[in-house]
Amino acid sequence: MDPIYTPEQLAEVKAYHEPRYLVSAVDFVFTPLVLTAMVLFVTRPLWRLSSRLGERFEAWSGGVPGVRALARVGGVLWRGAGWAGALLFALLFFELFSLTDLPTEIGLGYFHEHAHGLSRTTPGVFAMDLLKAKVLFALAIGSLVFGLYGLARRTAHWWWLLGVSASVLMLGSSALDPYRARLYVEQTPLEAGPLRERITALMAQAGIDFQDVLVDQTSTRTVRVQAYFAGAGPTRTIVLNDSLVKELSTDEVLAAVAHEAGHVNEPRWRGRVASAVVLVGFLALIEWLFRRSASRRWFGIEARADVRTLPVIALVFTLAMMASGPVSAAVSREREYAADRYAVELTKDVAAFRSMLRKAARVNKMDPSPPRWVVLRSWSHPPITDRLEALESVLH
Ligand SMILES: [Zn+2]
Repeated sequence: MDPIYTPEQLAEVKAYHEPRYLVSAVDFVFTPLVLTAMVLFVTRPLWRLSSRLGERFEAWSGGVPGVRALARVGGVLWRGAGWAGALLFALLFFELFSLTDLPTEIGLGYFHEHAHGLSRTTPGVFAMDLLKAKVLFALAIGSLVFGLYGLARRTAHWWWLLGVSASVLMLGSSALDPYRARLYVEQTPLEAGPLRERITALMAQAGIDFQDVLVDQTSTRTVRVQAYFAGAGPTRTIVLNDSLVKELSTDEVLAAVAHEAGHVNEPRWRGRVASAVVLVGFLALIEWLFRRSASRRWFGIEARADVRTLPVIALVFTLAMMASGPVSAAVSREREYAADRYAVELTKDVAAFRSMLRKAARVNKMDPSPPRWVVLRSWSHPPITDRLEALESVLH
């Protein structure tokens, strides 16, 4: 097998990845440490500040007609006074925590990407994307506070009620995926022509229904090529980006689409049941924390379901994610090999699949030989060299 890169290209790819691995290793140690320090030293003073400001806001809002209606909704959701302080506490806590991440987010996400020729985004667009992500995050925190704590303040059965209903909602949430992407990039339908015809024929051969083939207009922001399927059932959409359509031959694009098709019929029920069980278990653990914090008077808490438990919950959640990350990444890597095999069996064109992988690797500057710990910790895809090697045994 020919090497993917010349020695000079390989040196550049390594120079791109090494700082990222370093930051990831540092993050792994520092994130839990920073969160622990915040739980211990920030919870009390932040609560004093936000509950005082919240009380003032609620008192003031009673006299302002438009705001009064809003405040009443907050009070109903929260069940009583104190909703503004609770919301402010949660928003400020996560905002402070995300500030610790901001320098690397800008350093790696903007400057490092530009230095290695992968990003084309302007400072304005980059800032706007950051802002959009922050607004979405704040909305999520708001729903968490009112949903989880609001419900827990009403009934001690909240943990299984919420766990079961969230698990059911998650079954349908992937149907909304095609709409989420549109918050960030412009999409246009793939023009009529040989590529669209061949994709349609390939999907018919695979027995997969889809709504449309769309092209993400990402080339003003990034050099990278990408293809994915969004949505499920009637909303399933095949998404290619404009760079992929431009850089790859028709056979190579078809290879990429065939790989994505390999993910469509993956067995999902075992994973769904497992995540429902894990979610209900985690919420039961939170209920235990609610009771424990009230009986032990943590941070001055006197009753269960006090929002001052949120930092502890964030810490427990982070540790659980760090522990389970390698397991879900390993499952995902196995599925990528299976999707590669499926694609080659579908198109019967192993040469196009191989050249698609090699081209995508070069354009996206994928590391052909990442350190093993990096892969084991979090990579959802196997290294490109491993994927090419695994292809050798397909169709032989
Ligand atoms: Zn895949």
